[in-house]
Amino acid sequence: MSLTLAIYSGRACIKQSFMCMALILDGKKLAKELEMRLKSEISLGLAQAGRPPGLAVIRVGDDPASAVYVSNKEKACARIGVKSFGRYLPKDIAIEDLKEEIDQLNSNQNVDGILLQLPLPKALDEREFLKLILPEKDADGLHTINLGRLLKGEPGPRSCTPAGVMALLASNQIPIEGKRAVVIGRSILVGQPMALMLQAANATVTVAHSRTNNLHELTKQADLLIVAAGHPRMIGSEHVKKNAVVIDVGIHRITEDLLIDLKINSKLCGDVRFEEVERIASAITPVPGGVGPMTVAMLLVNSVSRWQHHCGLSFSLGDLLP
Ligand code: NAD
Repeated sequence: MSLTLAIYSGRACIKQSFMCMALILDGKKLAKELEMRLKSEISLGLAQAGRPPGLAVIRVGDDPASAVYVSNKEKACARIGVKSFGRYLPKDIAIEDLKEEIDQLNSNQNVDGILLQLPLPKALDEREFLKLILPEKDADGLHTINLGRLLKGEPGPRSCTPAGVMALLASNQIPIEGKRAVVIGRSILVGQPMALMLQAANATVTVAHSRTNNLHELTKQADLLIVAAGHPRMIGSEHVKKNAVVIDVGIHRITEDLLIDLKINSKLCGDVRFEEVERIASAITPVPGGVGPMTVAMLLVNSVSRWQHHCGLSFSLGDLLP
């Protein structure tokens, strides 16, 4: 009897774990598909344009994480045929010299997109430099004019990370209209443009931030939970409604001792306790391999669409710019 029960409960358990497996939203796979599409757009337009798309990434200082991000972006450019115009500048660069670098790239006819890798060294105010990039060359969609265009629903370059999230949701046919979305984080880089894009897609959006009270009560109501708080493994099963879609934007490198403490294998983790939330959610992004590759892919989308615009080619990427 007890054996039967044990087998039965074992089966029930297996069945239940099957039923509860969340769909993994694979950003790496989608980013590869987008690269193929962009590569073919470039070869289609190359003869008429007379030159390939050009992207300039400006890196100031020697922050190791920024070095990895910039290198990944340049490798992605090389894979699809975008020419890189990297500028690696010392951390003690004079303000006027950095402004001069941006001016030169603004007037370089072979450069379609310019990205200032953040964060800048503490002595430099990023807002002062971001606003110097021509809005038409703003590969990151962070210029005031482009954020205004997003707010008003006008076309323009879009912030890469939230645009990548929207593309990932769309490619997995995840419905947004009429859904209750909660975005954790209100940064200009992620949270704010994410909320605007979801609102434009007809979600009912709430933005939570560091002063939000009773966060879990709010997040428990979300059909769609976007987490961009910048705190490793902060969101767990207590925050998530059953069958919610959970997007983890956070990315953190973990030290060896923390790996043991947290009982996880990967050296990277997000803001979400994946192994816990995966059992409750209907779909979830992994870290790594979720939002990160989509951010790079959308940088390429912005660069290629800027190139099409500058070279008078027909614009073919509108479906990817929310
Ligand atoms: P940020 O530090 O500028 O903003 C964090 C936001 O989270 C703030 O608005 C803050 O109010 C909010 N927040 C902090 N603690 C909170 C709490 N306890 N409860 C609710 N809200 C809280 O960070 P960011 O630039 O928006 O990035 C967020 C995370 O996303 C970071 O981990 C960053 O590394 C990651 N990121 C990943 C990608 C990617 O491509 N995967 C791109 C950009 C940022």
